[in-house]
Amino acid sequence: MRKKIVAGNWKMNLDYMEGLSLFSEIVNMIGDEKKGDQTAVICAPFVHLYSIGKLAGGKVGVGAQNIHQNDSGAFTGEISAKMVKSAGADYVIIGHSERRQYFAETDELLLEKTKSALKNDLTPIFCVGETLDERNNGSYFEVLKKQLQNGLFSLNATDFDRIVIAYEPVWAIGTGLTASPEQAQEIHAFIRAEIAAAYGAGTAEETSILYGGSCNAGNAPQLFVQPDIDGGLIGGASLKSRDFTDIVKVFN
Ligand code: PGA
Repeated sequence: MRKKIVAGNWKMNLDYMEGLSLFSEIVNMIGDEKKGDQTAVICAPFVHLYSIGKLAGGKVGVGAQNIHQNDSGAFTGEISAKMVKSAGADYVIIGHSERRQYFAETDELLLEKTKSALKNDLTPIFCVGETLDERNNGSYFEVLKKQLQNGLFSLNATDFDRIVIAYEPVWAIGTGLTASPEQAQEIHAFIRAEIAAAYGAGTAEETSILYGGSCNAGNAPQLFVQPDIDGGLIGGASLKSRDFTDIVKVFN
């Protein structure tokens, strides 16, 4: 059975006290209401990680949203996987489309970041997804294939086993335009087939593939019931405790 995961991505939102307060609410609500064996994770800004880790009580996983690819060095303003791990995080989002778009992160750089995450015992949540233009001009299967091949598929099989993938169509992120369950399922099945071609059917069967892009408590049930969708990466709706925990509970 593949792991079911609902991961919140707070992005650059919530000051320190707001973050602690929202995280406490989420922990309390999950504690009371979660029945399934799904994993809930919050990927928070770096400054929140240590403190929310102390509040997590094993009920909610803690993750970062980015790392530098080196463990340490003269990289003013950067944060390494080693630091994030030592602050209490177990996950990290790698290759979010906002990082690819606004910070010019390439597939090759993302491979380095993924290796650094794995070396430091963080679970990478590796994001792939096409833009609206790529969706409209029909090149999206090629785009996704290239992101997978260049960003992930040179990992050895043991390392790849530790990867979680998030399919996030860029046109659906923060826009209120969700991929339909059929559109999302088509891509998730494609990604799984690509994994099978690279690592074998057994590995493909075991890899959790999350959907992200305007996912909320209203549309999550139709998305998560699809055979190749194993949970979600949730932006806007992870900033409200009830909305986020309602999505987690879809797996109850
Ligand atoms: P959204 O963001 O849920 O606000 O669309 C998802 C994401 O960017 O991870």
